[in-house]
Amino acid sequence: MTGDGLVAALLAADDTDTDAGAWPARVPHRLDSVLAALPRPASAGVRAAVAAVETYALARTGRRLAALHPDEREDVLRSLARRPRLAPLLDLLKVPVLLAAGTERTGVPPVPVPAPADPPLDCTPAEEWPARTTADAVVVGSGAGGAMAARTLARAGLSVVVIEEGRHHPTASFGRRVPLDRFTELYRDGGATVALGRPPVLLPTGRAVGGTTVVNSGTCYRTPDAVLARWRTTFGFELAERLGPLLDEAERTLNVAPQPLDVLGANGLLTLEGARRLGWSAAPLRRNAPGCKGSCQCVVGCPTGAKQSVQLSVLPDACAAGARIVTGARVHRILVDHDVPGPPRAAGVRAHRPDGGELEILSPLVVTAAGALQTPSLLRRSGLGGHPRLGRNLSVHPATSVAGRFAEPVTAWRGVLQSVGVEELRKDGILLEATASPPGMSSFVLPGLGRELRRELEESDRLATLGAMIADRPSGRVRGRDRTLVRYDLAPRDGDRLLTAVRAMGRLLFAAGATEVLTGVPKAPRAGSPEALDDLLARTGPRDLHVSAFHPTGTVAAGGDPQRAPADPEGRLRGVHGVLVADGSVLPGCPEVNPQLSIMAAALAVADAWLGGTGPGG
Ligand SMILES: Cc1cc2nc3c(=O)[nH]c(=O)nc-3n(C[C@H](O)[C@H](O)[C@H](O)COP(=O)(O)OP(=O)(O)OC[C@H]3O[C@@H](n4cnc5c(N)ncnc54)[C@H](O)[C@@H]3O)c2cc1C
Repeated sequence: MTGDGLVAALLAADDTDTDAGAWPARVPHRLDSVLAALPRPASAGVRAAVAAVETYALARTGRRLAALHPDEREDVLRSLARRPRLAPLLDLLKVPVLLAAGTERTGVPPVPVPAPADPPLDCTPAEEWPARTTADAVVVGSGAGGAMAARTLARAGLSVVVIEEGRHHPTASFGRRVPLDRFTELYRDGGATVALGRPPVLLPTGRAVGGTTVVNSGTCYRTPDAVLARWRTTFGFELAERLGPLLDEAERTLNVAPQPLDVLGANGLLTLEGARRLGWSAAPLRRNAPGCKGSCQCVVGCPTGAKQSVQLSVLPDACAAGARIVTGARVHRILVDHDVPGPPRAAGVRAHRPDGGELEILSPLVVTAAGALQTPSLLRRSGLGGHPRLGRNLSVHPATSVAGRFAEPVTAWRGVLQSVGVEELRKDGILLEATASPPGMSSFVLPGLGRELRRELEESDRLATLGAMIADRPSGRVRGRDRTLVRYDLAPRDGDRLLTAVRAMGRLLFAAGATEVLTGVPKAPRAGSPEALDDLLARTGPRDLHVSAFHPTGTVAAGGDPQRAPADPEGRLRGVHGVLVADGSVLPGCPEVNPQLSIMAAALAVADAWLGGTGPGG
């Protein structure tokens, strides 16, 4: 097994932990399943890092980690951590180890609730779909944007096929499997997509029928009016003018309502209390989860079916209107007919099946909704990536998190995963949200090594966690054809915003009664008071933070200027007839709030405009 010695060292496993029943003994096995889900370069990187630590242990002690006494192992880690060039290795290795350890440490079982039957979908696995078929429209990707576009086109009477790389996961399947198994399956690259940069940004996206909405937190913000106005006036994204009623429509479809207090959980209640004491505006978030039972598993598929991800809400409507979904098929390219007068025309798609076979769906209309990280590569593979701004203009809404330690148990993983929004700093582009995760899956990395880390893990029920997202400049770029490569360089203004956000989250947690704040900064992990936090942050730069992001947008932006915008003001890809862009790519910039409603409304608008504006916004 990979890294059993390293796991033992990081988690301070001793002799009492080695019998098969003890949770640390099960972690190496879990780590293997995490690594198996990663793309080969990432798992090779982790294995190389494990090997480097072992080589270091060998050079220092003459033995491998597994053969050392726990005190000696700890000694090796401490000595490694003192070396500035090697310390980041340990920080990197903690992420998969904590992911693997989280489920085992708390023994969170599969949720044994009886799940209601999902509304019916017309799904066909790619292996069973004929090699060549025709449709009026093909939608590539079944997430927030693709689902909305498919429903709109199907309701207008077009024969629609949605083609999705991921598989269909019914709600009942979530309750039968532990969170970690769902995590590695529901995310692209096992959740380890990373934007290169300093700092690197972890950028997970979903891959399933329902796209990233299957694993999102269910928070539903409308696009702020100021953002809509800017998209219209600065970018010439004309559809922004029509989004108001389409946001209403998306909210109705998803059953959006403020989260009731009864299932909020201590993480959210403490956040409300901290904000109240500071006089900051905060409230339970509006969410698409009527009847949420607070199982805190949104990010690995809601096991109760309360969260209205699009496979439970929009796609059933689309199928009722005649749309069909092909699952497990990766669209390799959009087919284009060049032998026509005028611009080339979309002619359908060619997709790979998991068994290596291919299928073609011929269609005069192709809607790209593969998400802002995949759509640019798909267009390039199809010979449609010529626009110089395609793949550029990537905003990710960077996020970082902070934890507060409380005297009493918080057990943040019981309650609503993303529960409360704190709007005090919205004017500065900073949105705080109380966000807890299933154990180990948080983007917050616990401090320490060996005994210290073990203590943190064992006392993690005393931690409350907050996350912050900042409205960012479009500082990223998606390259690649067959494989997407993401580069993101945090703009200096945005780095400062992240540090301001850490300070604000710390203040709020102290106000709520935290005895200590864990900053997530490896070199300065703890502050015992707001003043100590200020001191510590004065010595910290954005590059020291763990940064994640969940909201990529803007890579095939729509707009009025043909030089700046790869898509026209109505979301039609320039230079070809019959290719619409209907996912996060099409937004001209960061919506400054969690984006699913913005993407759904934009996709609705794009499809509606293609049809001639006959829908709710027409
Ligand atoms: C952990 C997490 C939590 C989040 N929480 C929230 C939240 O609370 N509120 C909110 O508003 N937003 C949230 N988001 C973001 C939100 O879910 C996404 O912004 C939104 O789903 C993106 O929609 P999309 O249509 O652009 O792409 P996606 O929903 O990602 O859908 C794209 C689909 O296309 C498929 N695909 C890609 N390439 C191909 C191909 N070549 N062939 C076939 N299929 C392909 C993918 O498999 C995927 O299923 C969260 C995201 C994450 C990761």
